[in-house]
Amino acid sequence: MTPAGSGERIIMVNDSRATVLDAIGSTPLIEVDGLWLKLEFLNPSGSIKARMARYIIERAEREGLLHPGDTIVEASSGNTGNAMSMVAAVKGYKMIVVMPVGLSPERAAISSAFGAELVNVGNFHVNEALTLASELGKRPGHFAPHQFESEWNVEENRTWLGPEILAQLPEGRIPDAFVMGVGTGGTLIGVGQAFRARNPDVLIVGLEPSESCTIQCGDTGLHKIEGIADGFVPAIYQRNREMVSRVVAVHSDDAIAEMRYLASHHGLLVGPSSGANIVAARRLVREDPSLATVVTICCDEGEKYLSEYFIPGVHAVDAATLASSIKED
Ligand code: PMP
Repeated sequence: MTPAGSGERIIMVNDSRATVLDAIGSTPLIEVDGLWLKLEFLNPSGSIKARMARYIIERAEREGLLHPGDTIVEASSGNTGNAMSMVAAVKGYKMIVVMPVGLSPERAAISSAFGAELVNVGNFHVNEALTLASELGKRPGHFAPHQFESEWNVEENRTWLGPEILAQLPEGRIPDAFVMGVGTGGTLIGVGQAFRARNPDVLIVGLEPSESCTIQCGDTGLHKIEGIADGFVPAIYQRNREMVSRVVAVHSDDAIAEMRYLASHHGLLVGPSSGANIVAARRLVREDPSLATVVTICCDEGEKYLSEYFIPGVHAVDAATLASSIKED
């Protein structure tokens, strides 16, 4: 067993200019049940999206697309909204998050806590929010990052998250497969590109909910895997679909059961999309045990789903009941 405190994740920020944004990245990669899990839910703002938000906003600053006092406008089912609101708060930009209703209330609350203005459009799927965010983004003094299309989203994953995972795998190991649910597709494609450069034969496996078979069948439906399958095939995925080895379907109920298992058996309090990724990764290994190194992502923190999945099931036993059960034993 590794003694507490001897982990690799040492963030030394000894600089008076440091901010919470310097704590993004360098998340642990751990092995659970033979799968390699990248714990992206540990990023500030509670998800994988912190990297992309920081990367795109700082790139836009360098390219002269974003100026002090400007407003950032993004359509998001939640995590990108949370992440961009955090970055905007640190850097002093105004933030408008355009999001559908029907997602966990924590997501809206977190963006709001970071000082963002929330605009609700549409139900669960992000399509209508996208149109409105694009329109708002054209106004003077506004910047729309367009996460579903932006090559900078892919670039972040290819140059930051992907290489970070490759460097963390034990020496001599290369990924045989990468499994990831498709929201914008930025993680699947960008990390996939980094992995392919290391192992040309690596399987790149996309995932969508069984109830919303959009990439494979062109249908959309309501599902519970928040953060993926937003109701359309994103441009990033369309541009790069030939590099995806296959797309698999996971039912929301299986994703949620896995999410609960990860918390109660491994101490990983994560959301349904992490559960879905792990269900698909387990299946992959079951079907082909020669896949020795399968990598997937724990995308966001379970705290964002407390009111939907965890608080309703909390039943405390009172002290008197506990005392009498101890006596009976
Ligand atoms: N899981 C969750 C919880 C997310 O918020 C997202 C991003 N919307 C994803 C998975 C998918 O990531 P990507 O946008 O890179 O496809």
